[in-house]
Amino acid sequence: VAWGVGRWGGIAGLEHGFGGRGEAVPADVTTLRQVHGRRVLDVAELRVADSPGDALVTSAPGARIGVWTADCVPVQLVAPKARVAAVLHCGWRGSAAGIAPAALEVLEARYGVFPADLEAALGPSIGGCCYEVGEEVRAAFASRVDSDLAGSGFRERDGRLFLDLRTFLLAELAALGVPIIERAGPCTACHTDILYSYRREKGGGRQLSWIGWQS
Ligand SMILES: [Zn+2]
Repeated sequence: VAWGVGRWGGIAGLEHGFGGRGEAVPADVTTLRQVHGRRVLDVAELRVADSPGDALVTSAPGARIGVWTADCVPVQLVAPKARVAAVLHCGWRGSAAGIAPAALEVLEARYGVFPADLEAALGPSIGGCCYEVGEEVRAAFASRVDSDLAGSGFRERDGRLFLDLRTFLLAELAALGVPIIERAGPCTACHTDILYSYRREKGGGRQLSWIGWQS
């Protein structure tokens, strides 16, 4: 696996990874039909293949859950004591819509896991170095969260607007009470030798990020 969180190696039974370009995909990873929304599903409740959604949660031994990305942020959450894990597909639309707080709400409602019980990791994604966006993107964030948070990750350079989604998600998760948040891996668009970048390559492949508990 291309990237991971070193400290999570100490959590018994946890397996995870942020995949790179062309990497072999591990077997039996459940994914969703990603639609850039804020729907969170528990893998134990999935009845229909190809269900639409952008985040999966699991506590089931033997279940691996994943998201496909190529510039969007793959986010993984772990509650080491409760043994619950989640994976989120966070593009700008889903992030502006609140996919991260939606996942935290599901973890609390279904598993009694609070943000303070969680650790988060934000995987390889397009950075503020490369991700030029329009004013409508900034407006979408400002319409949901207060202005200090909504401005996180946006920077203007030479009259153009750039977004670093990981900076926003890190600020949002911290504001919601997640105490430990790591970044794993570089900007996808700067590193197309090892990562797929939808923007830089005008399409192409996607890498898989996944997490789960051994059976
Ligand atoms: Zn870059």
